[in-house]
Amino acid sequence: MAISLCVALLTTVPLLWLVRETDGMPDPARRDLLMREETSRQTGGLLTLTAAEQKLDTRLHQLKEREMSAAQFPPAVHFFKVKTLIEKSPIFKLLQRMPKGAALHIHGSSVVGVEWLVKNVTHRPHCYICFTWDNSVRFLFSDRQPFPRWDCFYWQLLETLRAKIGDDAGFDNSLMQHLTLFTEDPDGEYPNQDVVWEKFEKAFIAAAGLITHAPVLRDYYRQALEELHKDNIMYLELRSGLSRTYELDGTIHDKTWTLNMFQEVTENFKRDHPDFLGARIIISVHRALSVSAVTAAVKEAIQLKMEFPDVVAGFDMVGRENDGRTLWYFREALSLPADIGASLPFFFHAGETDDEGTDVDQNILDALLFNTTRIGHGYALAHHPLAKELSRKRNVAVELCPISNQVLKLVSDLRNHPAAVLMSEGHPMVISSDDPSLFGTSGLSYDFYEAFVGIGGLKANLGTLKELALNSIRYSSLPAHLKDVGLTTWQNKWNAFVSENS
Ligand SMILES: [Zn+2]
Repeated sequence: MAISLCVALLTTVPLLWLVRETDGMPDPARRDLLMREETSRQTGGLLTLTAAEQKLDTRLHQLKEREMSAAQFPPAVHFFKVKTLIEKSPIFKLLQRMPKGAALHIHGSSVVGVEWLVKNVTHRPHCYICFTWDNSVRFLFSDRQPFPRWDCFYWQLLETLRAKIGDDAGFDNSLMQHLTLFTEDPDGEYPNQDVVWEKFEKAFIAAAGLITHAPVLRDYYRQALEELHKDNIMYLELRSGLSRTYELDGTIHDKTWTLNMFQEVTENFKRDHPDFLGARIIISVHRALSVSAVTAAVKEAIQLKMEFPDVVAGFDMVGRENDGRTLWYFREALSLPADIGASLPFFFHAGETDDEGTDVDQNILDALLFNTTRIGHGYALAHHPLAKELSRKRNVAVELCPISNQVLKLVSDLRNHPAAVLMSEGHPMVISSDDPSLFGTSGLSYDFYEAFVGIGGLKANLGTLKELALNSIRYSSLPAHLKDVGLTTWQNKWNAFVSENS
């Protein structure tokens, strides 16, 4: 930051003055200087690349030029329609191998691919299914026939239903459709934000019965870490409501059980994968709740943070911002930690909206006023100069989730994503994937592809990628000594990646 400010003061001001003074043909040398100065301001623009990195950078540049001039440029098209095309891209394949650091914005119920949920979990014994009146499904594990509920009158044992239907692959596919937004025809199925959000919330509810079964949740977390590690991610901060989990006989476990289990699974995973740094939880509550319910949740989160200081990172509010209550609405609840001198860092979703000037649009400033540690999405940040300045000054990073923003219909052509402005200014930023299972992605590589190729365009280079990966560790909630360990491990992986691919 200090360096970039110096560069700005020492070079830009006199350079701009020279531009004003020039008449006629601009001086090509000065033009070059200005262009270099502008590039130095972008994400990673001040990093000096080694010879090996420069070689890889040149290769990436050529590959990107080729993709940009092809008949179909993936970032300009809805992700669902170009997913297979992206998977064939040599840039994407490089990004998969690249050590990406940390995943800082992923939700607990959508971190594992639906294929695993259906092919593994729904094939387990004692799994019941019920089809709801609004064309959704519910699942429940039970050692006896479940009682009818308000949303579910008739429960069928999946094993029996499968045997009756016969077409296992076809049936599994139909189940997957209930758990993901992924479809061949996104424009037809999701004509507007309301429709896509409705399906989004439905898919969450459908998955809940599977994931909150205690033995499943244990395997689910393990699978999540496996999938992230496979995508070369070394650390995770997972947003989770820590929903109550249940056993076959109906026994219910509380949040403490879930945090203990999460810690145990993470430790086991680290033992098997010594290069993995760990995982933490950002406790999340839905913005549809009342002020008193959120106040209770904040108090509980403060308590859990004290009991699990190495597991609980902080607190967030989730759910569609446009439909929900604003952060300001919950101001009493959210000022509670500061009022009683307790520590509860905030990681607010804010500015995931295109409704400029509304109350919801103010979430971005309010998140900063409540001292948020990072901003989830911050799609609206570019339109708020003061909030943008504050976020930069305080080093509050934006968690950019490009595919999520596209699928949830804030932007269609990712070249027009407002984060292009933030990236060109080197605004503190990390890349994340929000809800991989709902968008048909896995880990971070797909979102890195969209950010690097689409949002960053031809000027985003290897330095951009390097800075984004480094940022994910810098802006994590890890204590300083673990950040150092993380940065050293990452650097070794990075060096290996560069030498293998340059
Ligand atoms: Zn989110």
